[in-house]
Amino acid sequence: MREDLQQIKHRIPLLDYLQQRNWTAHRFSAREEFVGLCPLHQETRPSFYVNARKNLFYCHGCERGGDLIRFVELSEHLSFRESIAYLQQDLAVAAESQLLDRTAAFYQAQLHRHPEAAEYVRQRGLCDPELIEELGLGYAPGGNLRRHLTDLGYSFDLLLRTGLISNQGRDAFCRRVIFPCRQHGRVINLYGRSIGAAFPHRLLPRTKGGLFAWESVRTFSTVILVEGLFDLAVLWQLGFRNTTCAIGTHLTPAQLSQLAVAAGRCIYIAFDQDANQSGQQASRLLAQLLESAGLKARILCLPSGQDPNSYFAAGATASDFRACMEQAPSL
Ligand SMILES: [Zn+2]
Repeated sequence: MREDLQQIKHRIPLLDYLQQRNWTAHRFSAREEFVGLCPLHQETRPSFYVNARKNLFYCHGCERGGDLIRFVELSEHLSFRESIAYLQQDLAVAAESQLLDRTAAFYQAQLHRHPEAAEYVRQRGLCDPELIEELGLGYAPGGNLRRHLTDLGYSFDLLLRTGLISNQGRDAFCRRVIFPCRQHGRVINLYGRSIGAAFPHRLLPRTKGGLFAWESVRTFSTVILVEGLFDLAVLWQLGFRNTTCAIGTHLTPAQLSQLAVAAGRCIYIAFDQDANQSGQQASRLLAQLLESAGLKARILCLPSGQDPNSYFAAGATASDFRACMEQAPSL
């Protein structure tokens, strides 16, 4: 317990912890002392002091002070034991997120080393190098991730737990183009699109998080919702930056509430036009759900058998797509 405690305090400096939670501070003296508004009580003049060297805080307003554990006890209303568990959980999440960041960076470096991947991306109509860079697109050739990550010091257990490696020790992603899914600047999942005969879609067995790139799309009053990340990529390439994606046709309650925060927002549903009508049926169900959440829903009608990606790959232009949007009926 004592060692756990020292390790937590060593790995999460109090000042970092506060700053990650948006505490803004000014350096108070030449020493490592900082002052800012107290996160524990309401105030207008700063009286909360942090000594970064000693890893301690003290507030002259509410007269409370102590170390990181004490701060978590007070701010999260947890017991001592619960605070430690809370911080251990925080460390585990941060470790996994750093691992996914490094995996995404590794895959990103592979994309241009494998002509078959670059060719696949080009065939899907994605050709803007800046956008490919912005999306952090990568490629998993298979067979080399495990060695790379264990060389960096990650344990086999952690790789297994995040689903990057199978029980047999093989790379979970093999011959797949990789899109990192980010939230609040952290990679929280990886989506892999097979370029071969394997099942097309794969995500790590963990939350897919909110809507894709929601932090940049949330400001739009009109939003285009697509099924796949290649659909999103080609629409972004054509300037439709108000496009987001739930990776599939099913929205989680969290994703639905992201859309519903702005009442009256108009959502254009641009799912695949499947021969078996499954995309169309999913569109209608989702449209009803969106309307009952106070949103306006329009269902885009692309030519039969098309999704936005194949529509553009077949030669359609931005104005063709805009015409589809104008003709999209409401419920
Ligand atoms: Zn205070």
